[in-house]
Order: sequence, then structure tokens, then C-alpha cells
Amino acid sequence: MSASEFDLINRYFAALGKGPAVRLGVGDDAALLALPADYELVVSVDTLVEAVHFPAEAFPEEIAYRAVSVAASDLAAMGAEPLGMTLSLTLPEADDFWLHSFSEGLAGAANDLSLPLIGGDTTRGPLTIAVQVLGCVPAGSALTRQGARCGDRLCVSGPLGDGAAALALQQDQLVVPAEQGEYLWQRFYRPDIPLELGQQLRGLASAAIDISDGLLADAGHIAAASGVAIHIDPERIPLSTALATMVDRQRALGWALTGGDDYQLCFTLPGDAVPPAGCSTLGEVREGAGVHCPVTIDKPAGYQHF
Ligand code: ADP
Ligand code: MG
Repeated sequence: MSASEFDLINRYFAALGKGPAVRLGVGDDAALLALPADYELVVSVDTLVEAVHFPAEAFPEEIAYRAVSVAASDLAAMGAEPLGMTLSLTLPEADDFWLHSFSEGLAGAANDLSLPLIGGDTTRGPLTIAVQVLGCVPAGSALTRQGARCGDRLCVSGPLGDGAAALALQQDQLVVPAEQGEYLWQRFYRPDIPLELGQQLRGLASAAIDISDGLLADAGHIAAASGVAIHIDPERIPLSTALATMVDRQRALGWALTGGDDYQLCFTLPGDAVPPAGCSTLGEVREGAGVHCPVTIDKPAGYQHF
């Protein structure tokens, strides 16, 4: 590592690493985390590439916040308690203005999501941000995609479709008043990640997933992993007030079903369990395979990179 690289890490990243589980953070060959007895480690990584996952002109602060949020969403979906994160940062150049703004967003997200930055890697190349998150669950209690059973209900943690609408707005495919634009911007770059809900669902939900590729694709993962069919009632898909007033219902439903980037939790509950506050029931689990939703939409489900 060169002296300037060391300076860069010290200046922008070394101070974000305080947390109850952190025994050793940035600066050594690796970090050390203390795991509570009888807990399992939960690990996930997500990579954001410029012009693929965010537009080239996006603010560095917002890119950082979003990068941490989308990674943390996988911890929420597993029911994990956050422990910390590492950052693999590939930069075309070491621009102080950019790095300052980026580290502000990183610090905000680290604080809001209880994910101290405990290490990482810094290299030169096309702008790419990989955030690895680490969390823990009491042994055997993690939420997975596998446990949905016939008779369970399908629930989501909040409104769907805003993420895809925000993308349409950024791609000039949607024109809305400034206030609604601001709402969509926030939902895209600073989605509320339901970490506490995820933990609350341990021992309650039979299966869970976070919605990153649209409801149809992600509910489809639960159906496939659990060996069941999922039936969704399109009338019960929750839409934000903003989205419902912005576009007609058909377009909003298309975004909710096949758009990505909502980062709500989708989960199944056994028949006798009460859905937590703020969650909506929108379908049920039956015998069979696949996701069934009687509505016509014209886009294929989920974003495929290859
Ligand atoms: P090594 O050569 O041993 O891999 P590095 O030069 O990659 O060491 O990193 C030195 C220290 O700085 C390590 O503790 C590493 O975790 C940390 N680090 C490097 N880049 C980042 C980053 N982008 N964010 C946080 N910590 C980083
Ligand atoms: Mg390294």
C-alpha cells in the first residue's frame, strides 16, 4: 500500500469503525468482530457499478448511502442483527471533493443502520462500490426462503413500485412535481431498511426475502425454494400515496410487480400469526409451483445482468 493510499483510508474511512462488536477495525491486516455465544454469522455482499446501478451524475453521498442500504437489506431479510461492514472501493481517481462527500454518506448510513466500517480494500479502476455486511442471528433462527407452507399468507413490509418509479424519473421516462420527485429520490437513494422488522420476524415468519428485483421475481424465489405456489391478489398490493397519484394504477402495478429497488421485506406467515404493524397481506401460499397474479403487465420479471 502506498503512503497516499494510507492517507486516503485514514482521512476518509478510518473513523467510521466504532461499534459494540468491533474488537479491531481499519488499519490491521483484517478486522476482528466479537460474536455473541450461540449466534451464527450472517454474511452478504452487494456490488454497485457506475451507470449500471446508479447514474454517473449521482451525488457521491447518495451513492454511498444507497450502497450500504442495499447491502443491509439482505441482513434484514435474514432476520440478522447488524455487526459491521467492509467496503471494497474501486475509484478512477482520488478526488478529495468526491471522497469527502462519499464518506459523509457512508458515515450517515453506518450510523443509521448500526454498521461500523471495519475494513476494506481500495483500488484504481472504473467506479465500483462493493459493500459486504456482517450480522448475526441466534443459532438456527435465521429467516430463509425455504420455509413457506400451504395455507401461509404472503405479506410485504411497505409500499412497492417507488424504486422503479424513481429509476423512470432519473431516466426521464416520468415527469412529476418537485415534491413527489424529492420523495422518489429519497426512496431510491435512502430506502428505509427494515432491520428491526426482520429481527421481529424470527420465529414468526416461515420464509422471507428482500424485494430487490420486483415482487414477482422475489416471491418466485420463495416459491421455488419452498416448493410451493404463491398467489397474489393485485388489488391488495400496497402503493405509496405519492405513486398512486403520480401514474395510473396499471403502470404503478407494473412497477410494483416487475420493477426493482424497493427493498421492502416479502415474507410468509403461518395462518394464525398476526402481521406486524405497517405490513400488508397480499396473497397466500398454495400447493403447486410459481407465482400467480391475475394482472397483465408487459415487462419481463427481474433485472438480469447476463
Ligand atoms: P492489505 O495490503 O493488508 O490488504 P490494505 O492496504 O488493503 O491492506 O488496507 C489497509 C487497511 O485499510 C486494512 O485494515 C483495510 O481493511 C483498510 N482499508 C482499505 N481500504 C479501505 C476502505 N475503502 N474502507 C475501509 N477500510 C479500508
Ligand atoms: Mg487489501
